[in-house]
Amino acid sequence: MSVGTYATDLGDGVGQIRLPLPFPGLRWTNAYTIRGDEGITLIDCGVDDGPTRYALEKGLAELGAGLEDVVNLICTHMHPDHMGLAQRLVAEGIPLVMHESAVDAQEHYDDWNISRRNLGRLAAEHGAPADFVTRTAAGDPRPDWAGTAVTPDRMVKDGEQIVVGDGHTLTAIHTPGHEISHICLVDDSSQVLYSGDHVLPRITPVIMYGFEADPLGTYLESLQRIEEMNIGLTYPAHVDVLERGSLRARQIILHHERRLGAMVQEVKNQPKTAWELVGEIFRPHLDPLEERLALSETLAHLEYLRLRDEVDRTQDGGVWHYYRPQRSRR
Ligand SMILES: [Zn+2]
Ligand SMILES: [Zn+2]
Repeated sequence: MSVGTYATDLGDGVGQIRLPLPFPGLRWTNAYTIRGDEGITLIDCGVDDGPTRYALEKGLAELGAGLEDVVNLICTHMHPDHMGLAQRLVAEGIPLVMHESAVDAQEHYDDWNISRRNLGRLAAEHGAPADFVTRTAAGDPRPDWAGTAVTPDRMVKDGEQIVVGDGHTLTAIHTPGHEISHICLVDDSSQVLYSGDHVLPRITPVIMYGFEADPLGTYLESLQRIEEMNIGLTYPAHVDVLERGSLRARQIILHHERRLGAMVQEVKNQPKTAWELVGEIFRPHLDPLEERLALSETLAHLEYLRLRDEVDRTQDGGVWHYYRPQRSRR
């Protein structure tokens, strides 16, 4: 394994390129390159800005290749840190492969304020203060580095194979939850998993409420699939390589089960709003973005519990309060 400034040769024809990110929190997106008969398949491509393009070209050079060798781009999902640069690479002639449901998320990708307005409406119904509701619904200008959505040249279904060549065939595994079109890719011969944001070391991906009724339920099901595959070596899109991907999937399931348990405890004796629970479950002093994500995550957990009759909710003055229903004892 040789390590350059931007790239690491992971062996077996696979390279990792670290693409810098223009926002705080995560330091970089890991793109992966796989050498095949026709050229290089690139998995994820980072945001659309100069430093990303520079790191991608330098990283490819460190691996003894160039952008002209890339014959395929696979994006794991519709988030700008994974496909921001895609529309430029597609315009330069590199075909894009994504899950077939990516087209359903294009409108949201290009207009972030659809989900901001939606979250603003939810925030009002769930007890957030008026200034938070107003700020959330007002939205923010979309940053240039997000790029624009591009329709994939090839849309794959769950279980479909993508032949890279030179001993590598990838099978797409549809793993929605973090985002509806998310796919992981497993290399059929080495059993290495490219996990995108679905399974990450040390951190857990945000589960946003608002796009579908039960995103956490969907996410936990997708994690269970990875757990059952008995995956070892895993190449995630952020942080470092994971030795035991299926074990990490189990740990993330347990993390959410603990959080679900904590929420049930919180509403056991007294009904609470989702906004009150954000204050109880998450650390204090969140910045505005963290506050929005925390409210969204809290709603994903509460609605998961409500759909399974673990909690119920009642409206008081136009605001939802969640509570633990009394169980009849025999
Ligand atoms: Zn993501
Ligand atoms: Zn990401």
